[in-house]
Amino acid sequence: MARWCAGNGWPVHPLAPGRKTPPGNCPDCKTQHHDPRTCPCPGAGRPCHGFHAGTTDPRNINNWWTASPNSGVGVACGPANLIVIDIDAHSTPAPDRNRLLPGIPIHDSVDLNGLASGFDTMALLAAYRQQVDPAQDTTTLRVRTPSGGLHVWYRLPTPKIRYRSSAGSSPKVALAWQVDVRAEGGYIVAPTTRTRQGTYEPLGT
Ligand SMILES: [Zn+2]
Ligand SMILES: [Zn+2]
Repeated sequence: MARWCAGNGWPVHPLAPGRKTPPGNCPDCKTQHHDPRTCPCPGAGRPCHGFHAGTTDPRNINNWWTASPNSGVGVACGPANLIVIDIDAHSTPAPDRNRLLPGIPIHDSVDLNGLASGFDTMALLAAYRQQVDPAQDTTTLRVRTPSGGLHVWYRLPTPKIRYRSSAGSSPKVALAWQVDVRAEGGYIVAPTTRTRQGTYEPLGT
């Protein structure tokens, strides 16, 4: 999977075996504060600094996953020119209607009974914008997460326009409640990555 992603031009970095997060930094990188972009570790075969270590270099990829074959694959979304909609299905009570789609007021006449997850807010937003709901978008890669969420992968149509990452819990820049955006400054777990919670399964394959 790392090689397939790299072949698409998407820089990859390892995730800690069984987890959806990168492994910790080496002792030097833990103790010395420095700019991850100038860190010598990734070039020397140590995948420090998470997505900053992302690479398409087959040698690095070979080294990393040979050393740790059970490591999952993270894709650095920014340099990959990817924007991934990360729809969560956490069972937490829905917030006030003004916080469901930040910046978009939801009229009192809209019945929000049963609204329970990012799938619902995403459908709401899609209806509002009269666009295809990304969760139903069969034209692109969709990946079911172990917690019942969904990652919907898009290539940036215009790579010059950058999108920043955001978390659905942020009151200001979120796309929708329980919907995160993975773009500049973020990474996404690649399909077939296995964690203790389960496997990231591509849909329709
Ligand atoms: Zn290091
Ligand atoms: Zn470093």
